[in-house]
Amino acid sequence: VEAVRVIGGGIAGAEAAWQCAHAGVPVVLSEMRPVRKSPAHHTDHLGELVCSNSFGAMATDRAPGLLKEELRRLGSLVIAVADTHAVPAGGALAVDRAVYTRDLSERVANHPLIALRREEVTAIPEAGIVIFATGPLTSEPLAASLQALTGLEYLSFFDAASPIVEGESLDTDKVFLASRYDRGEAAYYNCPMNEAQYRAFWEALVAAEQAELKEFEHEERKYFEACLPVEELARRGFETLRYGPLKPVGLTDPRTGRWPFACVQLRQEDKAGRLWNLVGFQTNLKWGEQKRVFQMIPGLESAEFVRLGVMHRNTFLCSPHLLAPTLQFHTHPRLLACGQITGTEGYTAAVTGGWLAGTNAARLAQGRKPLVLPPETMAGALVGYVSHGDPKTFQPMPPNFALLPEIAPRIRHKQQRYWAYRDRALAAIDTFGRTHGLSAAPALARA
Ligand code: FAD
Repeated sequence: VEAVRVIGGGIAGAEAAWQCAHAGVPVVLSEMRPVRKSPAHHTDHLGELVCSNSFGAMATDRAPGLLKEELRRLGSLVIAVADTHAVPAGGALAVDRAVYTRDLSERVANHPLIALRREEVTAIPEAGIVIFATGPLTSEPLAASLQALTGLEYLSFFDAASPIVEGESLDTDKVFLASRYDRGEAAYYNCPMNEAQYRAFWEALVAAEQAELKEFEHEERKYFEACLPVEELARRGFETLRYGPLKPVGLTDPRTGRWPFACVQLRQEDKAGRLWNLVGFQTNLKWGEQKRVFQMIPGLESAEFVRLGVMHRNTFLCSPHLLAPTLQFHTHPRLLACGQITGTEGYTAAVTGGWLAGTNAARLAQGRKPLVLPPETMAGALVGYVSHGDPKTFQPMPPNFALLPEIAPRIRHKQQRYWAYRDRALAAIDTFGRTHGLSAAPALARA
């Protein structure tokens, strides 16, 4: 069989290369480090964790925990290595970073079917099956080449995103559905504030703690000039937000019959109306601070945040326009993509894409039909969002329960709902594994 090219030996690329080789298909894996350094990575190991040493919650009734369990059952190498080098972390899967990356890197590099090349790939290879796994900091020449392939508007370099909350977690006694001046459909959830609530929120916002910028990000701030963080707007004066994203005009609160003093609007993020985006709330605040301050917004007191706001460099494709649920490009089915560049967020999500792209590239090389993950699994729902989200508002997404198809009749109790999602997902992944003859995660000896 022909060899598959994997470009990028980060988390997604390491998983993809190993899955492909494990299926018996030779791989040429190109990683630019250390020949060309990345601004965020510190080592030349494959699958390096760029920042935190945590893969997120372990419990399977949390979205990241469920995704990890599915990946274990699918035979993910990265999760198996992470499990082997886990350190106590209060309910999260955190790893001994140095030992984990060395072990993972050696397992991938030493696989007899993987040829590792330390090289920067500067253009899309002309022929063959190729997986792009070059991550949020894809080097410029390759990004330009991807832009030429996909069209200029289908590759973004920066991500200035507002937080997203689960619609089910909003307090519907406080928020109301309406569009400004009741024009068109009632498209927004509105969170009305009186003057005292607004003042308390404004004071908390201006005093909240910012996330620290990485060195390379200082220089990049200039790209965000047209898009100010919500806390920066607040610092410009007490009234500024009331004339900006918190403008109350035309929003009649049905409980008072009047416009509120200020109003936060939430815009629908997905077709099913289960994810809602805080309009104009792109922010650099620390994640804990975002939760603390934004939960002061009336109606959001118990909000479940599926994604917090970010303003950072992030190269990602407009995947709903470009990719099939097999992670193949619609227009070039021998090209695949995985990891952060497809618009997923976080380590475990990158492993998911890597698993699927590697598995499918091997199947293509063997003349077999590529796989689509079941939609009721967290892995399948995440890839489903990437391939079928709304291309107009597409933003990177971490795993979360609002991506899963609802269970009818709706289970009101949140914990019981999550258990039901989990049980259905794990049953589906087991059936999927049996149907396609996939093996469980390899048992690894400690390195
Ligand atoms: P990466 O892990 O970045 O891998 C991409 C690889 O491709 C790199 O090794 C790179 O050197 C290589 N590459 C790029 N261009 C080329 C080329 N042209 N030729 C050859 N090789 C190339 N996620 C979390 O879950 N937790 C965190 O704490 C976290 N912190 C982050 C901090 C920063 C500063 C950044 C930028 C991202 C952070 N993320 C975090 C998101 C994180 O990047 C992803 O979760 C994860 O690394 C994505 O995996 P990936 O394989 O898609 O990309």
